[in-house]
Amino acid sequence: MNTSKIDHIGIAVKNIDEAAKLYTDLGLKIEGSEVVESQKVKVAFIPVGQSRIELLESTAPDGNVAQFIEKKGEGIHHIAVKVDDVAKALEELAAKGYALIDKVPREGAGGHRIAFVHPKSTRGVLLELCEGH
Ligand code: ZN
Repeated sequence: MNTSKIDHIGIAVKNIDEAAKLYTDLGLKIEGSEVVESQKVKVAFIPVGQSRIELLESTAPDGNVAQFIEKKGEGIHHIAVKVDDVAKALEELAAKGYALIDKVPREGAGGHRIAFVHPKSTRGVLLELCEGH
């Protein structure tokens, strides 16, 4: 598997506009935001060097991010690594016995192919594979 960098770190927040203040105070800039219907989230990306911070705000009370915040509070939700080919990476990880949330890639923010690996096989870290920016 060819993994080139941390593409982004996903952070669950109650409100993107309120959360953005910290990052603008840090001298960073929000690059754009979009709603990803399939995941019931609004996302905003903040470039930091070669990587980005992805702020995630739920658009529905039953969404994954809303449930995450209810259980654990706001905070780091997932880490995304950039791979050349998400489908191939999934095959490799499945063959090695990792539990996958997505057996096949799905479409994430920006129309990129992404997939999640289950935290139960990554020592508690929700891991996203993405073909990234
Ligand atoms: Zn992500």
